[in-house]
Amino acid sequence: MKMLIGGEWKAAASGGEMEVVNPATWETIGTVPLGGHEDAGAAVDAAGSAFAGWADLPPVERGKVLFRTAALVREETEHLAATLVAEQGKPLREATDEVRGFAHVLEYYAGLSSSLYGESINTKAYGRIIVERRPLGVCVGIVPWNMPVLIAGWKIGPALVAGNTMVLKPASTTPLTTLAIGDLFLRAGLPEGVLNVVTGPGETVGEALVTHPNVRKVSFTGDIGTGRHVAETAAQTMKHVALELGGSDPMIVCDDADLKAAAAGAVVGRFYNCGQTCTAVKRVYVFSDVAERFKELLVEKTRAITVGDGMETWVRMGPLNNAAGLERIEGVVEDVREEAEILTGGRHPGGKGFFYEPTLITGLPADAPTLREEVFGPVLPVVEVEDLDEAVEAANSTRYGLGASIWTKEIGRAERGCRDLEAGIVWVNQHLKVPPETPFGGVKWSGTGRENGLHALERYTEEKALLIRS
Ligand code: NAD
Repeated sequence: MKMLIGGEWKAAASGGEMEVVNPATWETIGTVPLGGHEDAGAAVDAAGSAFAGWADLPPVERGKVLFRTAALVREETEHLAATLVAEQGKPLREATDEVRGFAHVLEYYAGLSSSLYGESINTKAYGRIIVERRPLGVCVGIVPWNMPVLIAGWKIGPALVAGNTMVLKPASTTPLTTLAIGDLFLRAGLPEGVLNVVTGPGETVGEALVTHPNVRKVSFTGDIGTGRHVAETAAQTMKHVALELGGSDPMIVCDDADLKAAAAGAVVGRFYNCGQTCTAVKRVYVFSDVAERFKELLVEKTRAITVGDGMETWVRMGPLNNAAGLERIEGVVEDVREEAEILTGGRHPGGKGFFYEPTLITGLPADAPTLREEVFGPVLPVVEVEDLDEAVEAANSTRYGLGASIWTKEIGRAERGCRDLEAGIVWVNQHLKVPPETPFGGVKWSGTGRENGLHALERYTEEKALLIRS
């Protein structure tokens, strides 16, 4: 495939290409251009040229293009989902959900297209102040490989509806579905240059986009370390920056919780997408008087997870997306193998593919490094606590603050969790789901922005004040 710049499909200026590999089979499934500095510059130029015309359209006309794209995405779901499985590894059912989720996000923002209101204040003494919301200009979206389609939608939807143009950079291992979606935008009538997709490594293409003086906003989703670097770099040219970074979401299971529902929630919350979800359940704190029963349920449900190539209908969990991810997960388990008890799983099954068994660990001390850092794969530590005070303190004892959940039937405990858990989103008796209406993002080191909802739409605009004296 080629990349999308200014409405045309282009090879890299250098002529270089990079291979995309299926993480379940290690087969090469396609090649994309190995973009570099020059290609990033061309994409920003194309987005810059398209900006005035796009920003000038009535917002509902912009919304109509998104509605048409969403309809095409729904028509093409089967093909897009299969491409996503092949490059990312997730089971077909999850890939289908993700593609439909992308269409839903576009429809949501298309529906909001005429809801960006300004303000008017009559000061009498100085006349009338009108506050307009203006688009920012060229925005850059940098996307990770774990949810490449949905996260792209969280950026494209609000950016385009608000009147911005965009350059999107998918992760190196998952560019194919994003490029296919770029084609659907063109077929839906998106003017050339409004959305550009540039492929290539973060260190070259990503860096060139973040340093480009004509880019006004960078919306970055990825690792904390990369995010900090992006923020520092973007500050040199005073860009708006949104950072959606890692998480180490705690789940608190109280002694009055519906244990079956909590165990099911923990299993889906951790092993969905092979544990590679920013808001996955990454640590469970369970009250000690129900811990044994809860662990039994958890082991039973975890052992029932079938692992294999995501295209097989019987598969519930695919491989990790890449070799580095598998190596990190193996390291996490080896580091604790001596001190902890592995209740189930704990190994790479051998053969081809970046597979790792769904794994449960118990017996770790509350201050174990595994509980403080983000574990991005199918390994779930379960820790016993005496009461809610201890659970909340342990839950908050990391630098992360993306999501958290509390499982209880008592309203007082639920309210305590909502109030005291340090997170951008707190779920009660559920974990993971983020409908497009939900403002989504982290506190502490998990990030500085919000995606989804009207809040994200506003963040793709800036206020312009007009003081009018008649
Ligand atoms: P990553 O930081 O390695 O890469 C993310 C993107 O940044 C990729 O497209 C990459 O090519 C690009 N990149 C790398 N170096 C760059 C540079 N110097 N300048 C500009 N761009 C650069 O992250 P990853 O491993 O792909 O993703 C996993 C991480 O993402 C996890 O920590 C996960 O929790 C986090 N995540 C967060 C959210 C959220 O909404 N908070 C959602 C999904 C994933």
